[in-house]
Amino acid sequence: MNESLLDSCRDLCQQAHAWQGSEPNQHLQALAQTLQALAFENARQVDAARVLAQLQEPIITLDTAGYITSWNQGAERLYGFSAEETLGQHILFLYANDEDSQISGIEEFFQIDDSALLKVKHHKKTGEVFWADLSLTVLRDNENDVQCFVGHLAELGKSLSTAEKLSLHASIIANSDQGILITNGQERIVSVNAAFTRITGYSMQEAIGQTTDLLRSGVHDADFRAQVSAALQGTGPWQGEIIGKRKNGELFPQSVSISAVRDDAGQITHAFSIFSDISVLRASEERMQQLVNYDSLTGLPNRTLFNQLLGQALATARRNNDCCVVLALELNRFSTIKETFGNEVADELLRQVGHRWRTVLRDEDVLARVGDAEFVAVLTSIQKREHSGIVSQKMLAALDQPFDIESNQVHAAASIGISVFPEDGQDALSLLRFSDVAVKRLHSEGTSGYLFYSPEMNQRAKEQWQLEAELRHALVANELLLHYQPKVSLRSGRIVGAEALIRWRHPQRGMISPGKFIPVAEETGLILDIGNWVLEEACRQIKSWMVAGIEMPPIAVNLSARQFDQHLPVRLQSVLERHGVPPERLKLEITESLLVRGADAVILIMNELVGMGFSLAMDDFGTGYSSLANLKRFPITTLKIDRAFVIGVPGDQNDCAIARAIVTMGLQLRQEIVAEGIETVEQMDFLRNLGCDQLQGFLFSPGVLSEMFERMVREDHRLKLD
Ligand code: C2E
Ligand code: MG
Ligand code: MG
Repeated sequence: MNESLLDSCRDLCQQAHAWQGSEPNQHLQALAQTLQALAFENARQVDAARVLAQLQEPIITLDTAGYITSWNQGAERLYGFSAEETLGQHILFLYANDEDSQISGIEEFFQIDDSALLKVKHHKKTGEVFWADLSLTVLRDNENDVQCFVGHLAELGKSLSTAEKLSLHASIIANSDQGILITNGQERIVSVNAAFTRITGYSMQEAIGQTTDLLRSGVHDADFRAQVSAALQGTGPWQGEIIGKRKNGELFPQSVSISAVRDDAGQITHAFSIFSDISVLRASEERMQQLVNYDSLTGLPNRTLFNQLLGQALATARRNNDCCVVLALELNRFSTIKETFGNEVADELLRQVGHRWRTVLRDEDVLARVGDAEFVAVLTSIQKREHSGIVSQKMLAALDQPFDIESNQVHAAASIGISVFPEDGQDALSLLRFSDVAVKRLHSEGTSGYLFYSPEMNQRAKEQWQLEAELRHALVANELLLHYQPKVSLRSGRIVGAEALIRWRHPQRGMISPGKFIPVAEETGLILDIGNWVLEEACRQIKSWMVAGIEMPPIAVNLSARQFDQHLPVRLQSVLERHGVPPERLKLEITESLLVRGADAVILIMNELVGMGFSLAMDDFGTGYSSLANLKRFPITTLKIDRAFVIGVPGDQNDCAIARAIVTMGLQLRQEIVAEGIETVEQMDFLRNLGCDQLQGFLFSPGVLSEMFERMVREDHRLKLD
C-alpha cells in the first residue's frame, strides 16, 4: 500500500477540516488530487475507498451525472442517512423540499472546471433543514476527462435542539449579572439565579416557595405595590425602580423589569423579574448632589443651595408675617492665618469654625459657606430684630476659645453683618447685599463684632461701586497720569531720584488722590490693570527722557501686594523690553505688609527681581511688624521711613525714639534710608543727624508733572541744607 500517499491524504483531510476560508478549499483540492493519485493506483483503490469511508468529515463522491457514488461516515453523521440509503441516489435527493431551495448553482454544477464553493440548503433524515457549504472538486483521468466529483460539506449556523436551547437559556439565566426571579401563577418564587442571591443575600432554598414579599422594604405605598402586583399578573411589561430589602435588613434601590410568560392558550404560567442593584449609581448621584449643593470642605450648604433655602425661608416668613434675618459672617485676618500656618491648618480652621457655628444655631436655621472665609446664615422665626444681635454675639463668643490644630493654637475672630426682613429688604438679593455691605464695613476696619445694616451704609457702598465703575472707565479714557516727587540727598542736597505717584484727573471731581481710589482698586482687583498702566507709563516717560538725551535719576514705582506674584518678573521684563529701558532706571517700592505673607515665596520673587537688575525699596517702613532678623532675609537696598514717624519729630519724644530706632536698624543693615513726608527744616535736621540718606517731602517738593520734574533736574534744583 502507498503509505506516504495515504499519510498525506490524512494530513490533507485534517487541514481541509480545519480550513475556514470562503474560497474553494485548497486543502480539499489537494486532497482530491491525492485521492486521484491513489485511485489511479489500481492495487490501492480499495485502501483509498476505505480511508474515505472512515473520515469524520462529511465527504461524498458523485458520478458525472450527479449520482452518489460514495457516502462516508462523516456524511452519515451529518445527514443521518446510511450509505445504503444514499448510494445510487441523485444529489437532488439531499436538497430541501421547499420553495427557496432552488438548487443554488445546480446548473453550474456540471460545468465546474476544477472546483467551486456552493451554498446549499439540504435536509437531514429527521427532516431538519440546514444550510451547508458544499465544496466541490472535479477529478479527471489521464485524458483529462471528468471522472467524478468529490464534495465536502460543512454545516452552517447549526440550529439548536430543544434540549440544547433549554440548557443554553438556563445557563444564560444562571450566569446573568442581573438578579432574576421567576414566579409561578400563584406568585410563588420557583426559580432564582446566583445574582439574585448575591444581591439579596437569600439562597435559592430560602427564596423558593416564598412570594416576592420576601424583598419588600415597606417604603412603597399601596398604589405602587398594586402596579407591581398587576405586572406580575400579566397586565403588561413593567419597568421602574423599587426599593428592596436585603436579607440583612439593608434597603437597596433596584431597577426592575417585570414580564409575564403565557402558554399556548394565553394563560399566564409564570412571571419573571429582572433587576439590578443600583445603589452604587444612587450613591454617586447623591455624591453629585452633594458636590453641587454642598461645600466639600465644611459639608455645609454652598451658595447654590443657600439661595434656594433663603428663598424658601423668606416665603414662609412672608406667609406667617414673621421676620427673618440674614447674617453675613467673615473671618478676620484669614489670609494672614493661611500664610502663617499654611493651607491645611487654615482649611481645618474653617471646618471647625463651621462646626462651632452650626452648634450655636438652631436646627431650622441655615448656615452656608459661600467664599474663602465667608459664611452666611439665615435665622428663621426670629421674633425681634434685636434677637439677631444676641445670636451674633453667641457666634462671636463661639470663637473665643482658640482652635487646637496640628499642635497650633489658632485664634480666630469674625465680623458679622446683619440685615432683617422685612425692614431692610424684601427679597433675597437685597438682604444678602445689605448684610454684605454691613460686614464689609466692619471688616475693612479690621474690627470683630456685629453690625446692623443701615441705609446710610448702603449709600457709602454705592459710592464705592460707582467709584469702581468710574475707575474702570478712567483706565481706558486716559484720565490717569503720573506725578513725580523728587528725592534729594541729605549730603549734597541734589535730586537723586523720584517716586512716580499716580493721579486721577476726574472730569467732574477734579484731581482724586490715590489714597481714595487705590484701596478700591485693591479690593476689586483693578489694581492689576492700574499697576500695569503705571509701569507702562513710567517706562514710556523714562524712554522719552533717554531719547531726548536728558540725564535723569532712577524712578521708583509703587507695587501693590496683589501685583507681587510669580509672574511679576516676566511682566516687568516684557515692559522693559517693549520700551527699551534698562532695569537700573527703575526702582520698585513694596510695602512691609507684603513681607508678612509667606516669606519664602516672596523672597524667591525678590531675588529674581534683584537678579534682573532691579533695586527694591521698602515703603512705609515702621508701620508693619518686620523684625530685624526677618528683614535681613530680604534683598532690599532702601528703607523708606513712613511719614507717621516723621510728623512728630523733633517735638514728640515717642516719635523721636521710634525714628531713632528705625534709622539705627536701617544703618545696621547698611541700607539706604529715605525719610518720607518731611515738611519742615526741623524734621529734616533731626533725621539728617540720625543718619538718613535722603529726603522726600513737601519741604523740597510735592509730586509734580513730568515736565516740571525734568526742569528741576536740568536746572539742578537743590535742597538748602543749612
Ligand atoms: P507712598 O508710596 O508712601 O507715597 C508717598 C505719599 O506721601 C504720596 O502720597 C506723597 O504725595 C505723600 N507725601 C510726600 N511728601 C509729603 C509731605 O511732605 N507731606 C505730606 N502730607 N505728604 C507727603 P500720594 O501720592 O497721595 O500717595 C499715597 C499712597 O498711594 C502712596 O503712598 C502709595 O502707597 C499709593 N500710591 C501712589 N501711587 C501709586 C501707584 O502708582 N501704585 C500703587 N500701587 N500705589 C500708589
Ligand atoms: Mg511709595
Ligand atoms: Mg510711603
